[in-house]
Amino acid sequence: MLYTSLVMLAFALLGASVGSFLNLCIDRLPLDESILRPPSHCPTCGRRLSALDLVPVLSYLWLHGRCRYCGASIPLRTPMVEAMSGLIFALLYWKFGLSAELGMSLTYTCFLIVIFFIDLEHYLILNKVVYPGIVVAFVFSLFWPGIGLKDSLIGGAVAFAIILIPHLIYPPGMGLGDVRLALMVGLMNGYPQALVAVMLAILGGGLLAAAALALGLKKRGEGLPFGTFLAVGAMVSLLWGQGIYDWYMGWFRG
Ligand SMILES: [Zn+2]
Repeated sequence: MLYTSLVMLAFALLGASVGSFLNLCIDRLPLDESILRPPSHCPTCGRRLSALDLVPVLSYLWLHGRCRYCGASIPLRTPMVEAMSGLIFALLYWKFGLSAELGMSLTYTCFLIVIFFIDLEHYLILNKVVYPGIVVAFVFSLFWPGIGLKDSLIGGAVAFAIILIPHLIYPPGMGLGDVRLALMVGLMNGYPQALVAVMLAILGGGLLAAAALALGLKKRGEGLPFGTFLAVGAMVSLLWGQGIYDWYMGWFRG
């Protein structure tokens, strides 16, 4: 118990540090900037950030969310991504233990978090993130005991087909980026967990859209970033997909 808690804490710290890098990817990839160079700097004053400025979550707190050098405010998303990555890394260790699945699911998490935030902020699902994601998911399926190549391909095909239909009916509502992302998520989750991911995204997106409309936060016709919901669906399905699927199917077996 103590051992598990300590390792979970270690994975939370690892996740938070990886989250720092994911922030940089979320900042730079939509602008077509390199994620390798230059090192992290303040986007306002351009000062290079020191190790002390880059401690996940804590730097944000003790700098009160402002750049140490020029006082420009740091987006709240920065500590959010770090905290989220830390939490998910710890949860994945708790689920998979030290295993190949853990390494692969941590990699998926990085893709999903970057996609979640870039779609949320820019309404964009970048090919340079999704295409490598598709390749990685395809290769990983060969090494994932519980999924395997066949279930992965079926999952990819099913998710792709489900999201292709709304895209063909109404392209402005569901873009090609969403369709490609569905393929990636389906390959990652495999069948039947891919169904759980897609259904959660459709349900979550639908409910939130209805709520936003009812509260007057959005006008009819204004879109929601579906990729953001699909990333959440994929993550939840990675952690609890089989359980959700069994629970749902249980209703029909009586
Ligand atoms: Zn600054």
